[in-house]
Amino acid sequence: MGRAVPEVSEVATGVFSVSTPLVNWHLLREGRDLTLVDGGYPGDAADVLASVERIGHRHGDVRAVLVTHAHVDHVGGLHLLLQRAPGAQVLLDAVEVAHARREHLEQVGVGTVLRHAWRPRTALWAARALRRGGTRDAPLARAAPFGPGAGALDVPGAPVPVPTHGHTSGHSAFLLPAHGVVLTGDALVTAHPTSAVRGPQLLPAFFHHDPAAATAALQQLSGLAADVVLPGHGPALHLPVRAAVEAAVEAAVGRACAPARPPR
Ligand SMILES: [Zn+2]
Repeated sequence: MGRAVPEVSEVATGVFSVSTPLVNWHLLREGRDLTLVDGGYPGDAADVLASVERIGHRHGDVRAVLVTHAHVDHVGGLHLLLQRAPGAQVLLDAVEVAHARREHLEQVGVGTVLRHAWRPRTALWAARALRRGGTRDAPLARAAPFGPGAGALDVPGAPVPVPTHGHTSGHSAFLLPAHGVVLTGDALVTAHPTSAVRGPQLLPAFFHHDPAAATAALQQLSGLAADVVLPGHGPALHLPVRAAVEAAVEAAVGRACAPARPPR
């Protein structure tokens, strides 16, 4: 069986969502220039290049790479693109830069995943993530910070960083005010292979560096003027982000009532 080709869809004018079964990345177009937001697993690197071509661009048109957070499923597939777009800036929340350079790691380890692998969904996801290079290291030597409270960044698409620390210490969402679109990264997702829930939700707690902060970070999203949510995992959602946050909180309550231990 051949590998699934990622789906590319233009969610708003010049705002492209690229989805694979495991993770999403996004492209913002302004004239001939592009911003790439995140870049999948190491095994997605060729698909990152293909997604740029699919919307009629050359790899060198990518002027900036923004990263919501430095987990391997969001930065692992950037290396080929960064070779072919040597002038592209790589920008993250200042708190996330050291993580991106792998001066430390805030990623769930194999041991933790195995402790949760009694859940069939988690075991299946782990096997697929492994095939995409989920245990390979992916340091981003070019990682640089965007200033705190920077407002719209001076990169194609003019995204506005929204600090949503918790999933990782320096996780950032990005608001596109001209389109009413918010890229939520892993601060709010709409599906994940480890989850039976469909719709807005938090990732399972063991994926978060600081689960309480990840829950609190939802409030940073709630007040944004956005009615399209583009998450790091799961399909695009056409719903005011405030309603998406409410649904995610409700899903978390439902999950808290579900069995948390393996059946005996
Ligand atoms: Zn992720």
